[in-house]
Amino acid sequence: MILGIDIGGTTSKLGLVHDGKVLARARINTLGHADEHAFADALADAGHRLVQADDHRPLRAVGIGAPNANQLTGIIEMAPNLPWKNDVPLARMMADRLNVPAVLGNDANAAALGEWRYGAGRGIDDLLVVTLGTGVGSGFIVNGKLVLGSAGNAGELGHMILVPDGRQCTCGRRGCVEAYVSIRGMRETYAELAGSVAGILSEEGVLPIAKAASDGDANAVRTFDESARWLAIALANAVCATGPKRIVLFGGIMRSGDLLMKPLQEHFGKVLLNIYQGRVDLTVSALEEDDAALLGAAALGEQ
Ligand SMILES: [Zn+2]
Repeated sequence: MILGIDIGGTTSKLGLVHDGKVLARARINTLGHADEHAFADALADAGHRLVQADDHRPLRAVGIGAPNANQLTGIIEMAPNLPWKNDVPLARMMADRLNVPAVLGNDANAAALGEWRYGAGRGIDDLLVVTLGTGVGSGFIVNGKLVLGSAGNAGELGHMILVPDGRQCTCGRRGCVEAYVSIRGMRETYAELAGSVAGILSEEGVLPIAKAASDGDANAVRTFDESARWLAIALANAVCATGPKRIVLFGGIMRSGDLLMKPLQEHFGKVLLNIYQGRVDLTVSALEEDDAALLGAAALGEQ
């Protein structure tokens, strides 16, 4: 049995995972602890309680997915959306408290491992998993191995530059994929197309754009088409680097279903290099969104 932990900006979730299923869950607040040690204590307590409630199987390992986590060092490095501004060696802190091996990894890489082990990418040793939400995360599995790179931070599809001197990105540069196909990026595209009176954007997320597109709003339909084109180019570029057999798409934006997938398939077919035509398929994750992060974290621990 593996304890999977997903560290989020406000809430951290825990799940006991066995045979690809989340058997029991818990959650604690990420905010409101005196420091990172108090947070680790609370996390370990919640983990202990879960393990004690399941008295049949011993805990083998802990896997933790977190933003800005480095799998090579086991450290969360100055994550902008987490309360600690210093480096937090959370892998070691949890291993000490729970007395089992602990692996910490980037949340996008955790999602990729989760899809590879339990989801739509099961058994596919050349896989790209892309998370489309507030940001754009990705994990590359190449020749049956998760790519970490020389410093543990490889696989940042969201920050590949797509448009020279394009939109401002959160990383400080301009024109990144994330500035176009994240929730924020899609909302910006809609606002640009619809002019300053983009009333539907008073609701959060991309759901209002999806609703408007379903109702025939031409700007909303075009927003999905433009976003699909940008994403298709980014994915086709990524294919040139690692030659995946499958690309699994995951995250809040994918709830818009065919509104994005149909134009994405079309654009992807147009921009994919000829030697890859017919050899890469695009799939939407079939994992429950709540479980995916926990399964992914557990997959980190199970490596
Ligand atoms: Zn960027």
